[in-house]
Amino acid sequence: MRTTGDVVVVGGGMAAGHLVASMHRRGLAHRLTVLGAEPHPPYERPPLTKDELAGAAGTEPARTEADLARRLSMHSPAWLAEQGVAVRVGARVSGVDRVRRTVTVDGGDTVSYRHLVLATGSRPVVPPPWAERPGLVHTVHTAADGARLGPLLREGVRLVVVGGGFVGLEVAAAARGRGCTATVVEAGPRVLGRVCTPVTSAAVARLHEEHGVRVITGTRCVEVVPGEGGAARVVRLADGTALTADLVVVGLGVRPETALASDAGLEEDPGTGGIAVDAALRATRDPSVSAVGDVAAFPRAGYGGRLRLESVDHACASAENVAARLAGEDPGPYAGQGWVPLFWSDQYRHTLRIAGLSTGYDTTDVGGAPGEGPFTVRCLAGDRLLAVESLDLPRDHSAARRELRAAPVH
Ligand SMILES: Cc1cc2nc3c(=O)[nH]c(=O)nc-3n(C[C@H](O)[C@H](O)[C@H](O)COP(=O)(O)OP(=O)(O)OC[C@H]3O[C@@H](n4cnc5c(N)ncnc54)[C@H](O)[C@@H]3O)c2cc1C
Repeated sequence: MRTTGDVVVVGGGMAAGHLVASMHRRGLAHRLTVLGAEPHPPYERPPLTKDELAGAAGTEPARTEADLARRLSMHSPAWLAEQGVAVRVGARVSGVDRVRRTVTVDGGDTVSYRHLVLATGSRPVVPPPWAERPGLVHTVHTAADGARLGPLLREGVRLVVVGGGFVGLEVAAAARGRGCTATVVEAGPRVLGRVCTPVTSAAVARLHEEHGVRVITGTRCVEVVPGEGGAARVVRLADGTALTADLVVVGLGVRPETALASDAGLEEDPGTGGIAVDAALRATRDPSVSAVGDVAAFPRAGYGGRLRLESVDHACASAENVAARLAGEDPGPYAGQGWVPLFWSDQYRHTLRIAGLSTGYDTTDVGGAPGEGPFTVRCLAGDRLLAVESLDLPRDHSAARRELRAAPVH
């Protein structure tokens, strides 16, 4: 079967969901055909490691994947139908023919496009020996993962989290809220080492320790040994420590989902592994293809090389930029003047917010009481502000956004 789409979006995740909203605001949602591999229309991912796992606001963990995806959905199926957006679920795209301008959906049918938006996101990193044994370790990336894991977090369950990034720490916090014991194993010298200053890392580690989490840093997890017949697993660390776990969750980061783009001959950015796009988010080798969200590697003025970000704010902003262009507007370069990357993480009843990127700074200016209460860390290169991390200080975060927006991009 062959169908014709005007703008075809591959990937039915958060960037695709935001693209639908952005096109809707312009009265153009009917131009979109969204092809998503998951069996659900676009849904919000952040709650998978937060409210939904922790059972916040009196909610029980969703019993089924469909139930969870429905609770988190970005647009109802009825609304999508009303707007004339064609969203095909369970539609994994297996090939792109850039000459004919068609994509092939698993199962054989083709959809032609005038413009193609790649929003294929990313997938969690799981070391091969663990990935080969279903059920040995868990990841939290999809509604299917969340629905599997949520009901397993029960009183007394011994959880080991491998990886002290946002996802791993949020899972540990949620698990403590459900009465599990939790140990976080981080190979680097500190948790959140990739994204935060040492001050914030230490404060967040302390927060977890105060909530009874054992935080182990500076030693790698080398092996997860399955228990026989449902018995506990043994998690072995490089320093010889052996931890007993009923449940192991892996939060070792993600890799961009670029196979489709590479097979189609699009350029992959060697620095970030994402699809190389220009300042208009168009694939460097084909202006009839754009990339948005986690998979896009975009240039930033004054930054040596491309950036690839995993955040809701970027999924939303990149989709907005592409929607504007599809509508014939000129939104200017993506990540140009006034652009500020934004991140947040909820752990226990605390919210860590980051404006800017905490890299390349030479000094930090700390206010408040890190490790004891709310605080702010300002990261500076000379007298130029690069990023601000704040815990439970939303006003400082808003002020930092304004300040960073006003600062010239070098
Ligand atoms: C558990 C969790 C918690 C998070 N918490 C936060 C947070 O607190 N704050 C924050 O800013 N960010 C958070 N993030 C990150 C944020 O959710 C992502 O950056 C965002 O979802 C990226 O959107 P995307 O559309 O690029 O990718 P995704 O939302 O991952 O969607 C990509 C979709 O493409 C589909 N796909 C892939 N290949 C194909 C193909 N060949 N054919 C069809 N479909 C395909 C995938 O199945 C997937 O559904 C979190 C992420 C996770 C997983």
